[in-house]
Amino acid sequence: MKITDVETILLRLPQVREIGDGCQTICVIRVSTDEGIVGIGEAHTNPLAARSIIDSPLYSVSAQGLRHVLLGEDPRDINRLWDKMYRASQTYGRRGLLMHALSGIDLALWDILGKSVGLPVHQLLGGARKRAHHAYASDLSQPTLEATIERALAHKANGYRAMKFGWGALGQDRKSDVRVAEQLRSALGPDFDIMIDMGFAVPLDHALYLGRAYAEHDLYFLEEPLSPDDLGGFAKLVAASPTPIATGEKASHELDYIDLMDRGQLRIIQPDIARMGGISGMLRVIAHAEARNVRVIPHCWSTDILVAATLHCISTMRDCPYLEFNVTDNPLRTDLLVEPIRPDRGVIQVPEQPGLGIELREDTLARFRWQP
Ligand SMILES: [Mg+2]
Repeated sequence: MKITDVETILLRLPQVREIGDGCQTICVIRVSTDEGIVGIGEAHTNPLAARSIIDSPLYSVSAQGLRHVLLGEDPRDINRLWDKMYRASQTYGRRGLLMHALSGIDLALWDILGKSVGLPVHQLLGGARKRAHHAYASDLSQPTLEATIERALAHKANGYRAMKFGWGALGQDRKSDVRVAEQLRSALGPDFDIMIDMGFAVPLDHALYLGRAYAEHDLYFLEEPLSPDDLGGFAKLVAASPTPIATGEKASHELDYIDLMDRGQLRIIQPDIARMGGISGMLRVIAHAEARNVRVIPHCWSTDILVAATLHCISTMRDCPYLEFNVTDNPLRTDLLVEPIRPDRGVIQVPEQPGLGIELREDTLARFRWQP
């Protein structure tokens, strides 16, 4: 089997707003083969930038575009092709954008491998330890606290037992950050896991204040209160905060996660499979984390392509308490697949069809296609 094309399909909502939502313009990757099998992936990043990295023609031996590197190769040689892409882009790559684009291709290659042998990806990874996962409802904090509480109660009524609110006005005033947690707890009751995501870094003393105050409201974790690069800050915060601290959605290399765990002392990491090397990268990070008894609760705020790939991976883990599930109203999330992935009373089943087990809706591709 040979790769005949690597295509980026950019989809964009008619209105893109300046909010903490990375699912307003998306980059779907389609890898075609001479045997008619087509693999689907997603690069969770700035889509136009990912397209450049994939489409660039040969520039030099260590600064190549990924499409050029892959044409004519056997897509089932995933390990070898991962190394080849990483090596061929070393001058400009290794972290960030290159890893995002490589991740989307890696997902598509696993999809092809699964389809070629008629098995779901989780089975190729050694088999699922869990076939159903509790999802936590992941939402944006609203302009008013009343509106945030209203959405929280709606998620609870839909059967979720855990939820997260993030971004928006959080991080500007520590007293109002505490009020959000206090009001959520009092509205949702005690048997509920609540998470707060700051989105952008706050000063270390602000983060410490929240880590202490949130413990009074039994928060499950406080996410991304410091810069992804502030390993020393994280080490201090984790040591002093009674509320667990989580981070990792902006890292992109397994070595970054080793740093977060060893130097930053993080006990919960949140790799995004469409940013940090795909399924191949995620397997390595899971192994590093499990060896350290660190929890991996992946970042998963984008389309159902990301949801499917994340489900296959976390189903093989020894202990993954939650799948993050984007509950915002967005057709790029809800209408992208022929059979959308939906939780039932907050529980999601791992796909069982060959490959990632997903099929794209052509009408949605046509409706939101973006040709910049
Ligand atoms: Mg986040």
